[in-house]
Amino acid sequence: MIGTAALAVQVVGSNWPKPHYTLLITGLCRFQIVQVLKEKPYPVAEVEQLDRLEEFPNTCKTGEGLELSEQFYKYAVQLVEMLDMSVPAVAKLRRLLDSLPREALPDILTSIIRTSNKEKLQILDAVSLEERFKMTIPLLVRQIEGLKLLQKTRKHKQDDDKRVIAIRPIRRLTHIPGTLEDEDEDEDNDDIVMLEKKIRTSSMPEQAHKVCVKEMKRLKKMPQSMPEYALTRNYLELMVELPWNKSTTDRLDIRAARILLDNDHYAMEKLKKRVLEYLAVRQLKNNLKGPILCFVGPPGVGKTSVGRSVAKTLGREFHRIALGGVCDQSDIRGHRRTYVGSMPGRIINGLKTAGVNNPVFLLDEVDKLGKSLQGDPAAALLEVLDPEQNHNFTDHYLNVAFDLSQVLFIATANTTATIPPALLDRMEIIQVPGYTQEEKIEIAHRHLIPKQLEQHGLTPQQIQIPQVTTLDIITRYTREAGVRSLDRKLGAICRAVAVKVAEGQHKEAKLDRSDATEGEGCREHVLEDTKAESIGDTADLALPPEMPILIDFHALKDILGPPMYEMEVSERLSQPGVAIGLAWTPLGGEIMFVEASRMDGEGQLTLTGQLGDVMKESAHLAISWLRSNAKKYHLTNASGNFDLLDNTDIHLHFPAGAVTKDGPSAGVTIVTCLASLFSGRLVRSDVAMTGEITLRGLVLPVGGIKDKVLAAHRAGLKTVIVPQRNEKDLEEIPGNVRHDLRFVTASCLDEVLNAAFDGGFTVKTRPGLLNSKL
Ligand code: ADP
Repeated sequence: MIGTAALAVQVVGSNWPKPHYTLLITGLCRFQIVQVLKEKPYPVAEVEQLDRLEEFPNTCKTGEGLELSEQFYKYAVQLVEMLDMSVPAVAKLRRLLDSLPREALPDILTSIIRTSNKEKLQILDAVSLEERFKMTIPLLVRQIEGLKLLQKTRKHKQDDDKRVIAIRPIRRLTHIPGTLEDEDEDEDNDDIVMLEKKIRTSSMPEQAHKVCVKEMKRLKKMPQSMPEYALTRNYLELMVELPWNKSTTDRLDIRAARILLDNDHYAMEKLKKRVLEYLAVRQLKNNLKGPILCFVGPPGVGKTSVGRSVAKTLGREFHRIALGGVCDQSDIRGHRRTYVGSMPGRIINGLKTAGVNNPVFLLDEVDKLGKSLQGDPAAALLEVLDPEQNHNFTDHYLNVAFDLSQVLFIATANTTATIPPALLDRMEIIQVPGYTQEEKIEIAHRHLIPKQLEQHGLTPQQIQIPQVTTLDIITRYTREAGVRSLDRKLGAICRAVAVKVAEGQHKEAKLDRSDATEGEGCREHVLEDTKAESIGDTADLALPPEMPILIDFHALKDILGPPMYEMEVSERLSQPGVAIGLAWTPLGGEIMFVEASRMDGEGQLTLTGQLGDVMKESAHLAISWLRSNAKKYHLTNASGNFDLLDNTDIHLHFPAGAVTKDGPSAGVTIVTCLASLFSGRLVRSDVAMTGEITLRGLVLPVGGIKDKVLAAHRAGLKTVIVPQRNEKDLEEIPGNVRHDLRFVTASCLDEVLNAAFDGGFTVKTRPGLLNSKL
């Protein structure tokens, strides 16, 4: 077999929307395979070069060789002169004929003149130069005769033919004789015809249609090797694929929607109620103008899932657009087409994927939009969401308007603090708080476990997860506001059980076989083996596990490893100078241990842990208040002095979690922690607190009470101190949580300290005893 060695000179094209590449290559020489060295990952072979140009000149200088080459040259010149010399490509070809060595001409001319693939392959196979000349001369003659005939019979079309031939040589100069390009080209031409037909029949608006027709015209004139060819073709393919006029019919029945939302989601009553109201209003008004819904809450509380249900109730397509980390406006609005590798933005891409012009778009994580030199994506998003503007949203790539007014947008975020204000203004915020332990258990048993069983091909006859186990997973293996890790842990359990079940089936089959062949005797033997396995020998013939496999705490430890969160609270509070605060983070509420220690120094305050500026201010406030009240509470420094900072440095630390704990709500916790440090008394280990303080010792209200209280409940605490003015927020807390906790509402720091220490803090007796503990 003879092949052609070639050099890839240029690769152009793109992967989008489907891979389309043009390879420009230069043929070097013929070769023959001597031995294939390896096949994978691509074939590698030892080859032998067949035609060496340096050996040829002799052939062309004497005897028959000279005669043949002269003859060939004459025909080649005759052929080229029949073409229109005013076309630059033809003139170039004429010059090439003179400058190229004669022995190179047969290969080049074969790639230019009209020949069948079979003929080209024959020329390729002709290694001897003489033979090659002999075979190509008739082809040249054939073409010359053909052209003569054409000139005679169709004189008026002569110019066109010249042009056709003239264009072909240029592209073929670099084409290796014998490739399948002809067939590819035919296929391509078919595709172009199809594309043109699609443009004609597409229901796109007039303006878009005009652009397509124009681009199509350009495309047809372009050689395929031009990089722009692939670009233009991709563009046209996208244009015909976009759902300009395709939409689904809304079917909204509020009662059915309520049932569907209830079936898919446990709890989250407030959210479901708001969503139904929203849908009802949309139905009555019969349009989508109005604020965009934005679900705000910690991860894994079902925001995406509710979005998906909304689409389902409306009978619309659903598409999620992740905005986390997007910091370039062309991500939303696309790149201009002049730019290589340009693409449409996520909105247009989403419409293409959804295949209709009225899907539900879930804009996920709008709070994580970035900003960069490439423009502000929030501004682009504003245009997308603005009902006044979005009926002619222009993506830079498309460069024609697309009507987005039928799209239903829903946004999600973990916090409103980082949503750009202009966007926030367009949205209606619905808070989705975290779940209580009881709610999580219900969600797990009603939704997560059945879903996981189905995904792993298990049935309730094979696995049984009792509620106490779920509670163990929730309290000892996860610490989250939502149910995402819980879901993952359940997945891990199902995987482990699936292995056991599959192994069991394998063993059962084996047992059946051995039963059939050897009867009862073998059974006994097997039973003995089972005992051996329990001591650690994994006998292959052990009895299959008993169904259903019960997941108890031991099984949990086996599958998930030792518990990650044990009740560490009392342990950590066994020294003075530690208090538990409640923090709100975008991931939900968290308990936060505040630690303080003092050392000899010059009255400096050091703060560590991920802190926001407000937290630092709270720390200074707390110290000032304690210093001014040191006498009242008998607080002294190490040398028994009421000036707390005299010869003393204080270090405050906020451990656990890399999340910045901003916000003033740690004020009361810092005061309590320092009061414990300076009094030497332990803070009660079951108390958590939150509240802002003033310099005069008042306690001011704070936000996120529900999330914080749920976090305290999750951590197994019993008493929660909240500012008095937050009392109304306690109503939102689910009954069972309220039942488990004791709430102390405080309006001043006295009340906080009294509740935080056993027996109260304002003890006026036995101050000596207190100090002696230091
Ligand atoms: P988010 O978008 O808030 O981060 P997801 O919607 O992705 O959370 O929810 C994570 C998983 O938890 C999903 O499988 C979802 O079905 C499930 N889930 C969350 N809340 C509930 C609920 N109240 N009822 C049933 N399943 C829920």
